[in-house]
Amino acid sequence: MGKSIYDPVTVLPQVGAKRLEALHQLGIFTVLDLLSHYPFRYEDIQVKDLSEIEDQEKVTLKGDVVSEAVLTRFGPKKNRLVFRMAIDHAVIAVTFFNQPYLKSKIHAGEEIAVFGKWDDKRKSLTGMKILGAQIEQEEAGFESIYSANKGIKQKTILNLVTEAFARYEALIPEIIPAYLKEKYRLISHRDAIYAMHFPTSEEQTKQARREVVFEEFFVFQMKMQVLRKQEKAVGKGTELTYNVADLRRFIASLPFELTNAQKRVVNEICGDLRKSLHMHRLLQGDVGSGKTIVAAIALFATSNAGFQSALMVPTEILAEQHMESLVQLFDPLEVRIALLTGSTKTKMRREILTELANGELDVLIGTHALIQEDVSFHNLGLVITDEQHRFGVNQRKILREKGDHPDVLFMTATPIPRTLAITAYGEMDVSIIDELPAGRIPIETTWTRPKNFEHTLHFIETQLRKGSQAYVICPLIEESESLDVKNATDIYEKLQAYYEPNFQVGLLHGKMKPAEKEAVMERFKNNQLQVLVSTTVIEVGVNVPNATTMVIYDADRFGLSQLHQLRGRVGRGTKESYCILVANPKNDTGIERMKIMTETTDGFVLSEKDLELRGAGDLFGSKQSGAPEFKVGDIIGDFGALEAARNEAALLVNQEAFYVSPDYQSLRREIGIENMDSLGFD
Ligand code: ADP
Ligand code: MG
Repeated sequence: MGKSIYDPVTVLPQVGAKRLEALHQLGIFTVLDLLSHYPFRYEDIQVKDLSEIEDQEKVTLKGDVVSEAVLTRFGPKKNRLVFRMAIDHAVIAVTFFNQPYLKSKIHAGEEIAVFGKWDDKRKSLTGMKILGAQIEQEEAGFESIYSANKGIKQKTILNLVTEAFARYEALIPEIIPAYLKEKYRLISHRDAIYAMHFPTSEEQTKQARREVVFEEFFVFQMKMQVLRKQEKAVGKGTELTYNVADLRRFIASLPFELTNAQKRVVNEICGDLRKSLHMHRLLQGDVGSGKTIVAAIALFATSNAGFQSALMVPTEILAEQHMESLVQLFDPLEVRIALLTGSTKTKMRREILTELANGELDVLIGTHALIQEDVSFHNLGLVITDEQHRFGVNQRKILREKGDHPDVLFMTATPIPRTLAITAYGEMDVSIIDELPAGRIPIETTWTRPKNFEHTLHFIETQLRKGSQAYVICPLIEESESLDVKNATDIYEKLQAYYEPNFQVGLLHGKMKPAEKEAVMERFKNNQLQVLVSTTVIEVGVNVPNATTMVIYDADRFGLSQLHQLRGRVGRGTKESYCILVANPKNDTGIERMKIMTETTDGFVLSEKDLELRGAGDLFGSKQSGAPEFKVGDIIGDFGALEAARNEAALLVNQEAFYVSPDYQSLRREIGIENMDSLGFD
């Protein structure tokens, strides 16, 4: 066998078991995966004018080391490394805590670049890391920043990419057909990959990004359209003929009257269920608009019609929560329901699987555990996925194949305009809940600088005294999960010191085991914890109506939609709720974005504003549109490319050449239909 771009990454030197696992966690299995693991941003390491940097801002500073580094130990594990650095005509102090080994990297007279936090009063930088690669890319002024994790460092990823490129450059496939490359003036994929990782100018990254984004969109559109075509070829779907009177009775038994918008989408969805065509529908509704109840009605209808259904969600916390609310809504004699997640015990799991296979179970709720191979249904009629942007096309395909082409409903809280949604999600029908349940008091939003944090703490306290609860969302540090956790832990300790013993503070982050997370969530739900410090893991769907305050640190680093999602965790009950954005915006756009958050709570308005504010300089957009699985492409900012990709895909799936010609071999391979010949053309 010859060398192939699909070789496992283990062919590269220095990829042992530990690194391999870390790479797998990042979704990197093959050499091509590695080469497609693009930096999520570039660090511009040009020397900043010191007077422009704000207190506590994180910056990269480059200068000359002008003193030896002095190491002071004060305890077995505690120490401090200090040296002076000259930037232009100023001399500043740089301090690293507890990283004594850095001493060997600091040499008087040499140039150095340090990433850290600026203390304006002391004119000093608290170093977080010394940038190694910048020395090589000095002229470029860019350093690629990758998402890394505990098992693998930035630098290692850069080295591996460099090595992979050197060895496999000639084998990088051109997936976009040549005629489209020409039509849209796209550079070769090889050049694009190179420039994504090792750019020397902004113009280069732009050209590279255009190619990469088009490829991403095009492959997605091809997958979706091939899937649709296959469905059509299969023909009729299942008719779920529920009893209308039963369904009415169920709806009447709900604890509240449906909003008009809910009624409308229930009609649309239940209408589809009865028809013999495959439902392929997207249900959009702002956070808190009441999608869960709509899902419950569809699940009820399906079971009433004698079919099974599945509800798939991205996290265990969310699965638990849905289970809880559905158990309350369904009569156990009428609808039998079970929960299946990664932490379901073996014995329980076996029981569930048996009941599922023989049809005793009606509704199965769960996480990715639902799509494991040994999960098989008796007669799956409906699949619902919640917050679907967390699932990939492939996973959707697997779940769908577990039934005889069941109806599919995707639910998302990402508000994007209808036309855009239809395209972005691959030709779906779209239902929109554009109305919140009556009686909601709008969330009062303010923003503040970090230096006013005492104020914020005090404000939270006044809410706690009223018996309410609060969330505090910590800054997100994408380049390192362990820093992320450290940040959260710091804030957690600070708040503990401030509030305990009067109020209890809890901590939630992505590194915790599912069972630990659950326990914390449970305690917060039961009001045993009044303050929950969390990383963004709680972003999706959590429902604790007694929580009235949401504090978001580093709010300017989140996109508007993400902020909106986070804010949607409060304002779910009848009490007045508050959202406090703690931010240090560095430019007018940043300030403008904070202002917009304080002015509107309408998700659709926010997504439009988002688009307006998206400057051309925003190389990677902001990964907030929550679109399906796009790594680089941004469905809002790159809408033009998305539409073009969709139209081209629609043409190509209907051409026989696509299925047989060697010209499309690498495209076929990429979308996973390598050995298919007949699809029935129209
Ligand atoms: P979403 O998933 O769309 O963010 P949920 O389904 O979690 O929203 O609903 C948010 C809250 O509103 C829940 O507590 C739910 O019980 C409540 N709710 C849903 N529909 C209505 C309604 N028509 N009237 C009153 N409350 C409702
Ligand atoms: Mg929800």
